[in-house]
Amino acid sequence: MKILLVASEVNPFVKVGGLADVAGALPKALVGLGCKVSVVMPMYRQLNLGDYNVSEFINVLDVPLGYGNETASIKRVSLSNDIDLYLVDNGAYFQRENLYNFPDDPRRFIFFSRASFELAKILDPDIIHCNDWHTALVPGYVRHYWDRKLLGTLFSIHNLAYQGLCERDMFVYSALPESAYNPEEVEFYGKFNIMKSGIVYSDMINTVSPTYAEEIKTPEFGCGLDGLLRSKADVLVGILNGIDEEEFNPQTDIYLSAKFSVDSLENKEENKKFLLNELGIIYNKDVPVISFIGRLWEQKGIDIVIQAIPELIKKEVYLIILGTGSEYYHRILSQFREQFPDKISINLKFDNRLAHLIYGGSDFLLMPSRFEPCGLGQMIAMKYGTIPIVRGVGGLKDTVKENETGFVFFDYSYNALLESIDRALNLYSDKDRLKAMQRRIMLEDHSWTNSAKRYLEIYNRILSSKKG
Ligand code: ADP
Repeated sequence: MKILLVASEVNPFVKVGGLADVAGALPKALVGLGCKVSVVMPMYRQLNLGDYNVSEFINVLDVPLGYGNETASIKRVSLSNDIDLYLVDNGAYFQRENLYNFPDDPRRFIFFSRASFELAKILDPDIIHCNDWHTALVPGYVRHYWDRKLLGTLFSIHNLAYQGLCERDMFVYSALPESAYNPEEVEFYGKFNIMKSGIVYSDMINTVSPTYAEEIKTPEFGCGLDGLLRSKADVLVGILNGIDEEEFNPQTDIYLSAKFSVDSLENKEENKKFLLNELGIIYNKDVPVISFIGRLWEQKGIDIVIQAIPELIKKEVYLIILGTGSEYYHRILSQFREQFPDKISINLKFDNRLAHLIYGGSDFLLMPSRFEPCGLGQMIAMKYGTIPIVRGVGGLKDTVKENETGFVFFDYSYNALLESIDRALNLYSDKDRLKAMQRRIMLEDHSWTNSAKRYLEIYNRILSSKKG
C-alpha cells in the first residue's frame, strides 16, 4: 500500500511537539508492515537534514489558489528504500525565524496543503494521511477536485485546540468551491475553519488516544466542534501513539552518561548525578528529582505546577523544568529560580539533549495537563524508569494506572497535584516498591508496532469501504 503522510513537522528534521515524533516514527513502523511511505512537509529554514543527502530537485508545481497560480519547488530526500521525504519549498512562506505563530499562518498552510494535493497527483498514493489543521484542507481538495483512481483519506487530530480559524478571504484564497462555505462544511460562525475541512471531508478521522476520541465529543473538550464530531462517531477512532524506540532507549541513548536497562537499574543513579551536576544542583541520593518537560502553556498544566511550587519547595525534593512558552510563565519561573537556586532548575529553552538527560536522570515526571490528546512524555519517561505523575485525561488516562505504572489525579488543582506527589514520595521512601514500579513501567510496550498495525487496519477499512 502506498501512503502519503502530510505533516507540518517531522522528527528529526524539525520538531516543535509530539506531532513531529509521530510523523517521524509512524512511517518507519508502516514500512515494517509492508507499506511504501512518502512524507511531505514544508521546507523551513530550521530544517536539519543531518547526514541525509542534499535534496534532489523534482519539479516546480503550479499551486492553484484563489488569487492565481503560485509555485512550489519540490525537493526529495530518500530516507530509506521505502521512505521518501518531499519538501515543499517556497521562501516567502517558510524561510522564517519560526515554524508557526505568524499572522499569515492560514495562508502559509493553505498553500502547503494545496501544494501537497498537487504533489499527490504525481505520487498517486492509495491513502493520504493528514495531520492537524495545517494539512486539513487536503481532504477537502480530494473531495472536490480528485478525478483519478480510488484514493482514501484519513485525518488525524493531534490537538483540537488549534483549528486554523480565519476570515472568509482565506476561504477565497483556498479555492475550495464557493458552495463549501456553509455551516455543514467549512464555515464556523461567520469564519473559515480550516480544521473542519479535515473532519468533514475525510473518509475517517482519528485522535491519538482512545480517551481523547471520546472526550472531544463533549462540550468540555470539543472546542466548539463536539457536535460535528458526535455526528462523525462512526468514522472516528482513537489510536494511541507509540514512541520512537530508536531515539528513546536507555540502553542505547547517546546522551546518557550511563546506559541502563531493567536489569541494570542501578546505573540510572549515575544519570541523576550527571544531570544535577550539569544543572548546578548538589546531588543527594535521598532527595528525589521531579521534572517537567513541555510547552509552557495552560494546556500542559504549568499554572498548577507554579501554584504548587511554594508547598513543593518545603519538601525534600528537587524540581527541574524544561520548556518554552508564554512570556508570563517564563517570568514567574525565572523568579522562582532566583529564589530557590539550590532546589529548582529552570531551563527556558528547547533542548533535546537536556530532555534526554532529564528523562534518564529524574525519579518522577510531572504531566498535570488540562487536556492531553496523547502525550509522549509519560511514555518516554516510563521507558527510562522515571515514574509519571499525571492528570487522568486523554492519553495520560490511557497509559498511566494509579499505583501500578505511576500516579494519577483528576481534579485540575494544585492541591490534587500535591496529593499525588505525596503518594509518589511515599513510594520513593520504600525502595522495594519503588524498584518494582520502575521495572514494571520499563517493561510496558509503547512501541509503534501495535499502533502502526491499527493505522494499517484503518487504511484498509477506508479502501474496502470505497471499493464496496
Ligand atoms: P505536545 O502537546 O507538545 O505535542 P507531547 O507530549 O505529545 O506534547 O510531545 C512533546 C514532545 O516534545 C516530547 O517528545 C517532549 O520530550 C518534547 N519536548 C517538549 N518540550 C521540550 C523542550 N523544551 N526541549 C526538548 N524537548 C521538548
